[in-house]
Amino acid sequence: MPQLRLYNTLTRAKEDFVPFDAAKVRMYVCGPTVYDFAHIGNARPVIVFDTLYRLLRRLYGPEHVTYVRNITDVDDKINARAARDFPGQPLNEAIRRVTESTANQFMADAKALGCLEPTVQPRATDNIAEMIEIIQSLIDRGHAYVAAGEALFEVSTMPDYGRLSRRALEDQQAGARVAVEAHKRNPADFVLWKLSSENEPGWDSPWGRGRPGWHIECSAMSNRYLGETFDIHGGGLDLIFPHHENEIAQSRCAFGRDVMARVWMHNGFLQVEGEKMSKSLGNFITINELLNTEKFGGRKWPGEVLRLAMLRTHYRQPIDWTVKALEEAYYTLSTWNRIATGSNIRSAQPSEAMLSALTDDLNTAAAIAEMHGLARRAVGTDRPADAKHALAGNLALLGFTEWMSKVPFESKLRQELSANFDVQKIINARLDARKARNWSESDRIRDELAAMGVVLKDNKDGTTTWEIKR
Ligand code: AMP
Ligand code: ZN
Repeated sequence: MPQLRLYNTLTRAKEDFVPFDAAKVRMYVCGPTVYDFAHIGNARPVIVFDTLYRLLRRLYGPEHVTYVRNITDVDDKINARAARDFPGQPLNEAIRRVTESTANQFMADAKALGCLEPTVQPRATDNIAEMIEIIQSLIDRGHAYVAAGEALFEVSTMPDYGRLSRRALEDQQAGARVAVEAHKRNPADFVLWKLSSENEPGWDSPWGRGRPGWHIECSAMSNRYLGETFDIHGGGLDLIFPHHENEIAQSRCAFGRDVMARVWMHNGFLQVEGEKMSKSLGNFITINELLNTEKFGGRKWPGEVLRLAMLRTHYRQPIDWTVKALEEAYYTLSTWNRIATGSNIRSAQPSEAMLSALTDDLNTAAAIAEMHGLARRAVGTDRPADAKHALAGNLALLGFTEWMSKVPFESKLRQELSANFDVQKIINARLDARKARNWSESDRIRDELAAMGVVLKDNKDGTTTWEIKR
C-alpha cells in the first residue's frame, strides 16, 4: 500500500500520515447546525471526509477507524427558528421538533450522497455535562474566568494561541472593529458558557442556568469519543478561525496536552459566481431541492451525481457551481455504470494508480482521470477484463455502490459513445471472430456491448447493426 500523505493546515505542508495507533485511527469532523435544510456547500465536507473515511478503512481495516461527526443542536439560530415555526409552543418542545426533523433530513441527504454513516453522530445536547466539566477544568487551571454571567476563555494564558490560523494576538486586538466588551480581559477572549434568559434554552451549571458557547461542544465530544488527542480533525475552510483555533485552545489547555489533533484538514468552498455558497448570502441550493425537484437543469439529480461532480476537483480547491458539471458527471457515471456492469462491485479491487492518487492528499481529480482511462481501455478493441474490474473496484472505493439503478443509460449518450468508443471497430472484431468460428469470443464481445447498452442485430446479409437499449 502506498504511504498516505495529507496536507496539514497546522504546518501548511503535505505530510506522511502516521496515526497514533494504527489499530485505532480516529477522525473528527464538525457537522451541521440543525436549524434548516443543508445546502450543497455543506455537502462538500460531508462528501470529502466520507471519501477519506473510506480510504482510511481500506488502508487500516474498517474495524480500525473511528469517525465522529457531531450534530449541533443548540444554537441561537435554532431558537429563532423554533419560535418562528412553532409559536405558542413550549420552547423546549419547539426546539426538539426543529432539531429532530432537520437532523433526520441531514442524515437522509448524506445517505443519498453515497456517504457511510459515521461511527458516532453525537448531539451537543447529550454532552452538556462533559462541556461543563471541561469549562470547570479550564477555570481551575487558570485558563478561563467568569464575568458578567459568562465563562470566558482567556487567550493570553496560552502562549501559542493562534498557531492554526497564524494570527498574532496583537493583530486581533488592533483589528478589532467592535468596541471591546467591557467584561472581557482581552478582546479575543471567547465565550465558553453564557446565561440564558427564561425563554431561552438552558441547563444548570456552576455559573447559573445557561447554555454553551459555539466551540466547547467539539472539545467535549471529540474527547468523549476519541480521547484527548487524536489523528485527524476536519471541516470547511471557514472553520479554521475562530472555531478550530478555539477548539484547540480549550482542549489543549483543559487536558494539559501539546496536541489536540495531529492533522487538521480543510475543504475549499463551493462557490456561486466567485462567492462562497452560504445561507447568509442567500445564494444557496439545498441538497433536498437538487435531489427532489426539477429546478436545476430540468431533472432530479441522483445524489451520486453531485458526489462525482464534487470529487472532480481536489478538495482544497474552490468549485464553481454549474448545472453543466452535473450533466457531465451524470453522463460519466452512466457510462461507467454500463461498463462496470457484470463486475461484482463489492469484491472488485481498486487499481494501484487509484490508490496512489487517493493516498496523495486525496487527489480525487487524478483518481477520476485514472477511471476515465480504465473505461476507455475496457471498451477499446482488446477490452481487457482487468480494466473493467478495476473500474468497478475504483467506483466502490469512491463510494459509488448504489448507482446501478439510479443513473440509467440515456440515448443522448449514443453520440458520446460513438465519439469515445469506436463501436463499429468492436463490431468488426466480432465479425472477425465469427468468421474464425470463435463463438465464445464473439459472444463475449456481444455481451460487453450489451452491458454498455449497445444491442447488436445480425442481419441476413451478414452485416451487423447496433442500437442503444433504453
Ligand atoms: P455550517 O452549518 O455553516 O457550520 O457548515 C457546516 C460545514 O459546511 C462546515 O464544515 C463548513 O465549513 C462547511 N461549509 C459551509 N459552506 C460551505 C461552502 N460553500 N463550501 C464548502 N463547505 C462549506
Ligand atoms: Zn467543531
